[in-house]
This record gives sequence, C-alpha cells and structure tokens, in this order.
Amino acid sequence: MFSDRDLVEKRIQRELWERVLPLVHSDRRPLTIEAGPDLDHLEPFEAGSSWGAPWATTWFRLTGEIPPEWTGRRIEAVIDLGFHQRAAGFQCEGLVVELDGDGSFRPRQGIHPRRTNYVIDSDPGPVVLHVEAASNPMFPQFTSSPLGSLETAGERLLYRFRQAALVVVDPAAEALAYDIEVLDGVMRSLATDDPRRARLLRVLAETLDRIPDVAAARRSIAPSMAEEVGGSSRHRSVAIGHAHIDTAWLWPLRETKRKVTRTFASAAALMDNYPEYKFCASSAQHYTWIEERHPELFAKIVDRVERGQWVPVGGMWVESDMNLPSGESLVRQIVFGQRYFEDRFGVRCTEVWIPDVFGYPAGLPQVFAAGGMHRFVTQKLSWNKQNRFPHSTFWWEGLDGTRVLTHFPPVDTYNAEITPEEFAFSIANFRDHGWSSDSLMPFGHGDGGGGPTREMLERARRLAGLDTRATVEIDRPAAVFERIERDADRGLPVPVWRGELYFETHRGTLTSQLKTKLGNRRCERLLVEAELWAATLGRPEDLDHLWQQVLTQQFHDILPGSSIEWVHQDAERILGDVEEELEERIAALLADIGGGALLANPADAPVDEVLILDVDLDGDIPGELDACQTMSDGSVALRAVVPALGVAPLVVRPAGDRVVLSDSSMTNGHLAVRWDAHGNITSIIDLGSARELVPAGQVSAVLELAPDHPVEYDAWDLESWTRTGAAALTGPAEVSIAESGPLVARVRVERSFGPSTSTVTYELRAGSPELRVHVALDWRHDEHLLSMAFPLDVRADMAMCDVQFGVVARPTHPSSPWDAAKFEVCAHRFIDVAEPDFGVAVLNNGRYGHHVFDGAVRVSLARAATYPDPNADRGHHEVTLAIRPHGAGLADVRAAAARLNSPVRAVTGPSAVASPTPAVTITGADGWPALGVGVDAVKLADDGSGDLVVRLHEACGNRTRISVATADRIVSAWRCNLLEEPQTGEEVGDGIVALTLRPFQLVTLRLCPAAGTDGRSLAG
Ligand SMILES: [Zn+2]
Repeated sequence: MFSDRDLVEKRIQRELWERVLPLVHSDRRPLTIEAGPDLDHLEPFEAGSSWGAPWATTWFRLTGEIPPEWTGRRIEAVIDLGFHQRAAGFQCEGLVVELDGDGSFRPRQGIHPRRTNYVIDSDPGPVVLHVEAASNPMFPQFTSSPLGSLETAGERLLYRFRQAALVVVDPAAEALAYDIEVLDGVMRSLATDDPRRARLLRVLAETLDRIPDVAAARRSIAPSMAEEVGGSSRHRSVAIGHAHIDTAWLWPLRETKRKVTRTFASAAALMDNYPEYKFCASSAQHYTWIEERHPELFAKIVDRVERGQWVPVGGMWVESDMNLPSGESLVRQIVFGQRYFEDRFGVRCTEVWIPDVFGYPAGLPQVFAAGGMHRFVTQKLSWNKQNRFPHSTFWWEGLDGTRVLTHFPPVDTYNAEITPEEFAFSIANFRDHGWSSDSLMPFGHGDGGGGPTREMLERARRLAGLDTRATVEIDRPAAVFERIERDADRGLPVPVWRGELYFETHRGTLTSQLKTKLGNRRCERLLVEAELWAATLGRPEDLDHLWQQVLTQQFHDILPGSSIEWVHQDAERILGDVEEELEERIAALLADIGGGALLANPADAPVDEVLILDVDLDGDIPGELDACQTMSDGSVALRAVVPALGVAPLVVRPAGDRVVLSDSSMTNGHLAVRWDAHGNITSIIDLGSARELVPAGQVSAVLELAPDHPVEYDAWDLESWTRTGAAALTGPAEVSIAESGPLVARVRVERSFGPSTSTVTYELRAGSPELRVHVALDWRHDEHLLSMAFPLDVRADMAMCDVQFGVVARPTHPSSPWDAAKFEVCAHRFIDVAEPDFGVAVLNNGRYGHHVFDGAVRVSLARAATYPDPNADRGHHEVTLAIRPHGAGLADVRAAAARLNSPVRAVTGPSAVASPTPAVTITGADGWPALGVGVDAVKLADDGSGDLVVRLHEACGNRTRISVATADRIVSAWRCNLLEEPQTGEEVGDGIVALTLRPFQLVTLRLCPAAGTDGRSLAG
C-alpha cells in the first residue's frame, strides 16, 4: 500500500519552523543599540555590525518603549549577539545586568545561542537593558589556532550582532509549538511498524492543517498530548538540571568566573517560573567565585538550596582529573569541597560527580567512601574507543574491596536537552533493565551555554506521560540512588565491577603540558612536606589558600594538558608562585626545627644512602669527611642516615661500597653496567642475583621518536599505532665521563636529532642497586612522541603500576580487546614487572604515561600537540628515571620511589639544637620501618585541637601489622573519615597504636599525644 510517511514527517519539521514558530512572537519592536568598552563610552551601534575582538568585553545598552497596547501581554527582549546555533558555550556570551549606582552590577540572566530571550516584567513605558558581552573566540576542532593566547589572538572582530527587539509572546502559540515538537519526537522514536506511530503522524498532520488557527490546532493535538500510555512498570528517568562548566579549557580561568555567573544567574532565574525545576552544580571553587563577586546571587542560591531546588553535588573543590593528582590531593579535593558545601549550604554531598574525567583508578572507591560519598556518577566511559562498558548501574569495587554505587547516565551525555530522541536512546542504551528501573539524565547546556532552558523544562513536562516505556521526572540525583539502594537491599542482583575504570581514549593526557603536570607534582609534594614540618614543631601553619590554588589547577582540562596556551601559562605561573611560597615556609619551619648541619627527610621511607648535597665541608660537619666526594659542580656526595619523615644531624658515614668506572662500564657492589661507543647501554647485571636485565641483542634506556598524529583530539589522544613508527635514537653520540667515583659515577650521552637535542646521564652511586637515568631535553619537534625504552629480560603477564593508594596490574600484552586497549597506562612513581622472586622497577620523578607491551617498559617523555595549544611542550624539560632490580615484593621499590621523589634537604643553621624525633614513626611487626606502608599526610588536625592527623595506606597488597608512634606518647586515638571526624576508637598500648592494615587499606588516624591532651576519652 502507498505510504507518504516520509514526506509528512518532513512536512512537520518544515512547517513547525516556518509556520508555527513565527506565530509565537505576535508583535515586535526593535531596540535601539549602543555599544562600547564600558558604560561610560557607549556609542550608537547598528544591528548587523561587527563587534568583539578576541577575549574582549563589550557593553551594550538597549533602549526601547513598551506601547500601551501591549498592556497585560507577555513581553520579552530577544537579544542575538551573532550566535552560532550549534556551539552553545564555545563562542560569545552575554549577561543581562542590573546596574547599581556605584558602578557595580547585579547579574540577572545569561544570554546564549539557545537562550536569547529575557523576560521584561514592566508596564508600558521606556525599557533600558544593559548587557555585558564577552567575545570569546571559537576553536574549530581540531585545528591549530593562535587565538588561545592574548599575545597572538589579534584584534579582528569576531561576531556580527544579529538583533535586539522587544516581542510579545503568544503563550498559546508557544505551547502549541512545544506540543508539536515533543509529539513529533515521540512519534519518530517509535518503530515504523508501531500502530501508534501512524496515529500520531495523522494527528500531527491534522494539527498543522489548522494553522494559523492556533486554538483549533491545539484542540486537534490535545487528546494525544493527554493520552495515558504505559503502566506502572515503566522505567523511571530522573532528569536533573545541570551545566557542566569546565573550570578552564578553551578559555582561561578569568572567563570561567563569568561563565559561572551567567549560568548560575540563568539557573536561578528559571526557578521562579518552574517550581518543579531542580538544578545541580558541583565544584566548590565555582561557588566561591559567585560568593566573592555577586553576593546577592549567592544569597539567592543559598535560598534555593534551602528550598531543595538547587542541589550542590560532587563534594569536591573542582571536578579534578583522577589519573594524575596524588592520593592526598584527591583527599583534599573532597575535604575542601565537602567543608565548603557544609559550611555555606549545610549540605554534605553523598554523590561524587565527575562525569567528564579521563579514567578512574582503582584506589578511588575507598577515598570517595571515606569522604562521605558512597555513590558515584560519571559518564565518560561511554567514549571508550574499543570496548563498551557492560553496565549502567553497578557496584564499583576498589583495590581494597570498598564498593561505591556507580551510575553512568544512559543518555551518554551530561548535556542532554530532554528531546524525545535522547529520551528514547537513553532507555534503549540502559544496560540493567533486568534488575533496575531507574536512571539519571543530566540536562542543560554546559560550558557557558547557560545550563537548562525553558524549552527543556517544557519538553520534560510533556514527555512525562507520553512514552510507553519510561516516565521522566525532575529530581535530585540522590533520588535515583535511594531507589537503587532499596533495590539492592531487596536482594536484586546489582553487578560488581572490580578494579579500575580505565578510559579507552585520551591517553595523551598522561603526558601533554609537562610543565603544568610537574608544577602540580612539586606543589603537592611541598604541601604535605610543609604540613609535616609544621606538625613536627606542633605549630599551626595555614596552608588552605595554597592547597586550594593547587586543587583548582588539577581540573580535568588543566592538569591533563588539554587547554589553550593561556590556561597553561596561568597554571605554570600560579603553581610556580605556590611552590616559591612553600619553599620559603619550609625553610622557615626547618630553621626552627634545628640548627647546625641538619638533614631533613620528607619521604615516608628511611634514608641510608649516598646523597648529593650543597654543603660546605669546611663547616663543622662530623664524621668521615675523607669518605666524601666533591662533585664537578662543587656539591658534595656523602653517605648519611636520616629517619623517615624526620630530621637528623648531618654525620658523614663510611661509604662501605665504591663505584669503579672505565670507558665503557661502571660497577658498584650491586650493579654492573656497560655501554657501547655510542653510549647505548648494552648490559645491566644485578650482581646479587647474577641476572642480566637487558635482553640479548638489545639496548636499554633508549630514546625513541615517533610521529604523533592523533585522529581527533590532539593534546588528548595517543593512538595505538603511534609507537609502531618509532625510530630508536641509537646512532653516534658524544659520550663523556662526568663524575668518576668513588661515591658517584656519571656518564653523559649527548645527542641531537632533527631540531631537538638530548643529554642523558647515567648515574650509579655507591651502595645503590639503582641505575639512575637523568634526561635533559631541548624539545623542538612538532607532533612527535619521545619515549625512553627499557627492554627487560623478565617474564611477567602483568606490570604493577603505582597509583594513588596502591598499585594496579596492567597487562604486558594485547591478548584480549580489554588488554589491548591498555597500550598507554598511568603510573605515578614506578612501574614494575616481576617474576615471583625477581623483578625490575622503572622509577621516575616526573612522568605518568607508560607503555608496557612488547617486553619493555617505555616511559613517555614528551609530546608536542598543536591543538588546542599550538606551542604545547616545546622547550626545556628534565626528568630522572631509574632502573632498579629487586627481590620478591614491592615494598623496597615503593620506598625507593618515595626517596627519589622527596629528596633529603640539607639545612644549615647558626647553632646546634637537639633535633626532635619524627612526628610519627611507622614500624612493622619485625620492628623495622614499614616500607610497604605509604604515609600520605602528617598534619595537625584542621580543628585546631592540636591532635595529630596521620593518613597512611598499605601500598603493596599485603596484610600488615604496624605500630604507630609519635614524638610524645599517644594518649588516645581514633580512626577518622577524611574530614578528620572520629569514627571508631583505636586501642592505645604503652603510648603506641597498633593496627592491622588490609591490602591497600587507607586509614586516617587522629592521635592525641600526651602534651596536647584535652581530656577526651577514647571514643568507642
Ligand atoms: Zn569537562
């Protein structure tokens, strides 16, 4: 039989746009426009004119007159700054403001491509509107652009102002347009052989036949809009208003402050007219900007939180990256986030909300749970390139066994628009219909697109009853979790996913923008070090502001290196300033801890090794001065002993070992290393086990250069085939002996390759089973990946990678699709491949990306993407790697990595003062330092009580009995959550706390030492 379905469906679309929507504005009057750089310098401006140099601000004054005949009608201003319809948030934006007499203003509502209307609430007479407009440039994917830095952006005007007018809105025509749009979408989401699809097609055609008689058209469509379909077993989709605002990305922090203002003002304004509307927003940092800049808007948000319409979520300072920050940084993201939300809104968040983050390490569940959040929302794994994740809702089980209830909104976006098509996709895409009936749909334009619009809310109202498979309602994210938890309690089979949520794309973010990454790494190390020395002195040291600045830079487009040049310039400057201040504070603290010549060891591992220090041997240094080696730069190599997390007087010890060097080899009591005429390492023998580390015929510590052309997101992505095209840089090089022992030997290998040069220095120290490889680069390539390869004669299926609060195993082979996807993995301070009794670790003090296929550990040293920052990573870089053979277990490797990353400081003061015992000492059951236990923080409690807070974790996967002692006898002790609130009491015996740690268990202890006792009794 003949069917004209296709043609009628096309008719509906065209007539909706061309015949129905024009009826919505029944009358219009243009507004007179003035424009200028500020309100004191406005000049007449014509619609159709260009405005807006990159990153500039333009003020518009719009004036007009509401005529008497519009009395009682719904009046709006329509303001189109010259928007591109398809890129809400990634272009110009406006803010309608109310001026105060003193030159300040109050934000009223954002103006965006999908929100060009502003409701005028006034009687006939003159109308004056003021709009602050930002001409942020667009960055077409994925082309290199000079617009990302003020220095290179130029002055060309970017936008053409389209229109400003007053309009009269016909509410009936508007409602009809929504009805047609939603019913049409519902119809199209049905199967073509669904009888209802044919009926709705007829109704829509009949409705359009009535146009321009709006009342008749509405009568025609009304029965279908009111039809009761479906039953009580329908899936429940909970929609929640949202605006995913990237804290910086294709715009600098400066602009994000205004994006948040526009979005939050719009979100709050919409609540007046839609009482059912709820909006959730994460990131304490964003709220602090509103609080500081727009107190009136902030007060309105506080009010809406109290009424339950505004829902703070996430409990974090920003939506930070999860791969790269240290464990303690992730803890502080939660501590600073939860504290802020609780303090300002009386709310402690129960859901982690990081929809857009590039992978989720296996240590996270216990961190979330200890921060009060047993629920987790993310969405990003729907971007996986290789494997589709099998669940939408599941228990995510971390390294230590902690589980958090995790939900991936099946709409596969955090910027939904509540269209019938999305709604249908969301139901079809949900993976857990067998046991669950609930899912979440975050809706609203992100990134300065302005959040939810009234169109979305109108669609939600209409869709609620129209789908046979699912209902939609607007509610808090917690409502979804509460229902899922009830299902779980009833015994429904919630699936469990154990281990990391590896993200199968964006692997280049482990390496891009090295200076941002290393600035963060230094700052997070110095922050905990400053806290340690302050705690050692028992002196409060307010570091909150410094922590917060670092936490902001851990945002998921800053630390991963996926932002424009301006953002990374900001990051390097901010982190540099924080670093400088921390160095000063640490110096001041250490000066007060002790005088004379002192060594301070911030690592959570004891030191007994050859150190290279800037000290003056002519000073009053005790010990075997003859056993020192003066280095070519004047520094001094010597063996010394310092306890973990403590200080000790500088006493030179006998070396007990020496390095012997020839033209092509160096040897100490542990390692024998050989290199060829081009400086390529041909052999590393572990003397203790008599094992050769380098496979026959191969060379180690080799630089490999590969063209690096991602298919899409340049700074983000690394492709599986990139390393296939790598060239090993093993040709002629300049080889020279830089230090020749007896404590330290160094061999320098200098190479140039194309526009870049490298200086690689091999270093062996007396007494050390570790060959250090220091790499200095002058990196001038475009779009290349530089790696260093360590081929290893070790047979292991898995590599153990150091991550926050433990290690995760990654395959050394691409055997299954899930294994093959892990061709670039994150490791913080070491990566290890091991047979049961023998392994080799590759340590680093400043890289994250690793490749462990093909019988080698490869460390990604540098990339050079051209989008979005055309200059990313060109310049000078340094890093120290190390190759370290070892026996069974990882405790020794972990301790070595801690020492490499937190080097000993030499402090010289005017007078000798007795150095204190460490603030905390962690001892294993054998009475020796517990090398497998990581100490993440030693600090005075935030509440000012004087209690000592010690955060520690079992780092290697063992069950471990430890004793925790402090400088003074412990009187009482509690196990706490991350917010330092006591949860359970710990027994104290003889002034010491003993506890057993499960594999990878994270524990926060609050210890009340004798001197600081305040009379509290042991909590139970
Ligand atoms: Zn994002």
